[in-house]
Parts: sequence; C-alpha cells; structure tokens
Amino acid sequence: MYALAIHGGAGALSRPELARERDLRRGLTAALAAGERVLAADGSALDAVEAAVVVLEDAPLFNAGCGAVLTLDGTVELDAAIMSGTGLRAGAVAQVRHTKNPIRLARRVLEELPHVFLAGEGADAYAAEAGLAQVANDYFITALRREQLAALQPLPAGSQPGPGMGSGSVHTLGTVGAVARDRHGRLAAATSTGGTPGKRSGRVGDSPVIGAGTYADDASCAVSTTGDGEWFLRLVQAYDIAARLRYGGQDLARAVLEAIGERAPRLGARGGLIAIDHHGQIVMRHNTAAMLRGCVREGEQARIDID
Ligand code: ASP
Repeated sequence: MYALAIHGGAGALSRPELARERDLRRGLTAALAAGERVLAADGSALDAVEAAVVVLEDAPLFNAGCGAVLTLDGTVELDAAIMSGTGLRAGAVAQVRHTKNPIRLARRVLEELPHVFLAGEGADAYAAEAGLAQVANDYFITALRREQLAALQPLPAGSQPGPGMGSGSVHTLGTVGAVARDRHGRLAAATSTGGTPGKRSGRVGDSPVIGAGTYADDASCAVSTTGDGEWFLRLVQAYDIAARLRYGGQDLARAVLEAIGERAPRLGARGGLIAIDHHGQIVMRHNTAAMLRGCVREGEQARIDID
C-alpha cells in the first residue's frame, strides 16, 4: 500500500490568493498526481516526493521555485531539502539563486556527494556541474511577489518582533512539501521554499534544515513543515514528531496534535505540517487560518483542502 501527502504552505489566504483558489487547487492536484504516478508504478517514496515538489516549484503561485517570495533586495533565494527514511540519507540546499528546481539539486546532493548541505554560490555551481537547468534570477520573480514586497513595511531598525513573529519576518502561504510511503514501506520527505517575504539576504529558515523542516526515518515517520521558520528551527519540529514516536511511544496523530496543536501555539509558533508513518497513516495539521494540502492512499480517492 502506498500513501502520499503534499502541502502548499500554511498561513492565511490573501485576497489575491483567494481569487486564484482554482489555480491553487489545480497545482496541488497536479503535484499529487505526479507523485502518485511514481508510487503506482512501484517507484520509490523518494522519487515520488521529488516529483510532487518539482510540479509545485514550477507552478508560479507557490512560494518555491518560480513564484517564490522576494528578499528585501528584491531577489530570490531558495532553500530545499529531501530525505530518505531508508538509511537516513539526506540532501539540502540553501540560498540557491539560479537553479530552476532546488529540490532536484537537493536530490543530487543526496545521491552524489559525501556532504548533506550545500549553500550559496557553491550550491548553484554544483547544480550547473551536475547538468541541472540554470536560469536568471528574474525567472523566479512574479508580479504578485513584487507587489507583496512593496506592501511590506520593514521593522524600524532596533525594534523587536512581537510575540508569535519570526525574527522580523512576515509569514505567507506557499512553501511546498511532500511526504510519502511506498509499497515497500520506505518513507521520504521533501520541502522547498523561497523563505519569508522581505527576508534579509542570507537568511535560511527551517525548510532545508534536516530535523527542523524536513525529516524521514523508516522506523518512525516522514515530516515536512511550513510556517514560522525561526520557531521550527528552535523546536527542531520535524525531528520532534519522529522522536515522539520513537522514544515517546506516541502514535502519529497524538504526536502531531501535541506538537502543532498544543505546544507550538502556546509558544506563539504558527504553522503546520504533513506527516506519514510506516503504516501509511497520514496526519496533516495546522494552527494557522489555512494550510493548502492534499493526500491520497492507494485505492482511495485523492483529496485537496485549502482551509
Ligand atoms: N518555513 C518557511 C521558512 O521559514 C516559510 C513557510 O513555510 O512559509 O522559510
């Protein structure tokens, strides 16, 4: 039995995003179908999460790949990670500026390098060397994100962010992720993002950090998060869910409920996550107004939700 879940970010749907509800659903549906095709052909969970995330990176409405949010300087810096729960293999990239699909680059790091995490110019240089498509930074930039940046009021110098906010960052929907269990019981997770709108150049969030935004272990579960990256880094959020299963004896639903439904909001950490365990049980939960998400299990009807 295979199972797959995807997300397109947690937060509140803005008016322009609400107007594009149909396109958002279409993007999620296409991503879910791409991942399911891999699993139905007896492919691996790792290939499935990569395939699903590539579709969302290419869809301009999501905050990953084309359509990602802008830094304060008006450029795009992308982060992504992928992890296989079999043998705890992982690849991660941060501050990618020219690689069309950062998740493909993360996968190449997983497969080909003795390292886990590449950042900055060296990451793009490796992508070019590996033959992955390179684009000008403008390729990623959409009119919607330019307007969003213009509407942002940067915090005055020296002021502290309020409770529930990241370090001066503003949260938006659109980070993408996927978790899967294949027919052989292998788990995988992938996450890709442009980070937070108006972030300082050089800022890296939770998404590409193994254990924070992305984690997979066949012995417990696979997790992809979205939300306040500064909080999820400090909560080591994805690994916390796996640890609740491994050491705490919790089942997936309880682990996610206690982490995202109870502990995170108590601290002021806003966001959500998708998770899957080795039985193929899927849990998707958020403490924000909305989380774009979808899931499918072998032989069952796929579902997409945007509330
Ligand atoms: N967690 C992401 C980050 O902090 C943002 C998001 O999920 O919306 O980079």
